[in-house]
Amino acid sequence: MTAKTVTVIGAGPVGTLLAISLANKGYRVGVYEGRPDSRKTDIYQGKSINIALSDRGWSSLEKLGVVDAAKTSAIPMYQRAIHNLDGSQSAIPYGRDDEAIWSVSRAGINHSLLDIAEAHPAITLHFQHRLIGIDLETAEARFQIDSGDEIQVQADLAFGADGANSRVRRTAHEFPRFSYSQSYMEQCYIELNIAPNEDGSCKLDPHALHIWPRKDFMLIALANPDGSLTCTLFMNFRGEPSFESLRDENAVQAFFEEYFPSALGLLENPVETFLSREPAPLFLVQVFPWSFSDKVALIGDAAHAIVPFYGQGMNCGFEDCATLDSLIEEHNHDWPQIFKAYENQRKPNADAIAELSKRNFVEMSDLSGDPMFQLRKKIEAKFSERFPELWKPLYSMVTFSADLPYAEALRLGDRQEQVMDQIMALPHIERDWNEEQVMNQLRDLATASLGAAA
Ligand SMILES: Cc1cc2nc3c(=O)[nH]c(=O)nc-3n(C[C@H](O)[C@H](O)[C@H](O)COP(=O)(O)OP(=O)(O)OC[C@H]3O[C@@H](n4cnc5c(N)ncnc54)[C@H](O)[C@@H]3O)c2cc1C
Repeated sequence: MTAKTVTVIGAGPVGTLLAISLANKGYRVGVYEGRPDSRKTDIYQGKSINIALSDRGWSSLEKLGVVDAAKTSAIPMYQRAIHNLDGSQSAIPYGRDDEAIWSVSRAGINHSLLDIAEAHPAITLHFQHRLIGIDLETAEARFQIDSGDEIQVQADLAFGADGANSRVRRTAHEFPRFSYSQSYMEQCYIELNIAPNEDGSCKLDPHALHIWPRKDFMLIALANPDGSLTCTLFMNFRGEPSFESLRDENAVQAFFEEYFPSALGLLENPVETFLSREPAPLFLVQVFPWSFSDKVALIGDAAHAIVPFYGQGMNCGFEDCATLDSLIEEHNHDWPQIFKAYENQRKPNADAIAELSKRNFVEMSDLSGDPMFQLRKKIEAKFSERFPELWKPLYSMVTFSADLPYAEALRLGDRQEQVMDQIMALPHIERDWNEEQVMNQLRDLATASLGAAA
């Protein structure tokens, strides 16, 4: 029997986008969200939190016909603005002059997608329906509703889009040969805020992602359309300094004075906020399979929770939706085939972006403040401009190449790394980097190492 009805668990950005794509393919979709409707109840406590959307996310939204959902308030960021400890600033462009990542409102995208879903005749949204159990063989789901009562929902298929702590995924632990790994980073994070100037303008350049790299910890800031900046402090939970060790006002004040003097005057009540917020953990989850009994599948953070250092979690989840959409067409609604192709295509790519995201913490928090690293980026950018067919920097492959799978970007990036190690080891590279001979040497090494693969 052909599937006609689908239950989507979780109305986050990925679940909502998935519902729209399935409904456009002819399915009747019920979306079940545990929390109240965030468009009516302020579950974000008045905070506007922006995250980075890049080409993969845009391209997926475009493909699924909802690109306007993100366009309204997107702010392009063309470079990283590095705030050094001595108060100086340096800039590292993200790519070519016209290439940017986009600061977008997390809630804003979600709300726009929910509006589109709600207006679709084939989609029904159910808020305050918390999944408490799911039968992976039949796709029958049980929800607890606001009154405390339980209801059962039966559809032909079900998707767990219920985020990093997915209940659907936890049920899958009982599934035969289910592989699961979860690892916590040493770092946790809290969000801080920089209010706008009185005239509504931003206190820092809104077209840059601001980073205060301090090796084992860092502060970052992204602009919001109202002129405020959302800041995130990533730091170890234990050790020195850490969220655990900084427990009184004097210690926290001294910490900000020592490490973030240029941010201290801009942040809104950093000491009070630091002491009152519970640091949130960062963890990775990798599982396989992603589908069960040809009836139930995982998508978005539920299938692959990654750390946020590449700004790719939501982009990757949107790409899951776009891939699934293509596979429905390709396999003519044959779900056993679709599920198999979906998990086989997406799993290696999710693993690759998980690995890249872990590595990027070191790049952001430590290397981005290192002059030799900045030189390395400069050489790569110049070479890539001269020989675009031979070289695209790893960051650009991940962020500005919607058609290149993450796994391929990782593979090519590793080979480029080896080539650049040789270039950076050249005597007097700091002095000679702009000389033609360096470009020639890089071209020879790149052709030998990457020519066939690039
Ligand atoms: C600090 C930080 C910064 C980030 N920055 C970026 C960035 O710059 N760029 C980027 O692309 N990504 C970023 N991400 C990742 C991004 O936020 C996630 O990848 C994205 O939100 C995943 O979407 P999702 O819909 O899969 O899951 P979620 O957004 O987690 O949504 C899941 C939904 O399921 C609901 N739910 C959970 N359990 C149940 C249940 N039992 N029953 C019913 N409903 C349930 C939840 O209430 C929620 O609404 C960042 C993440 C963090 C933590």
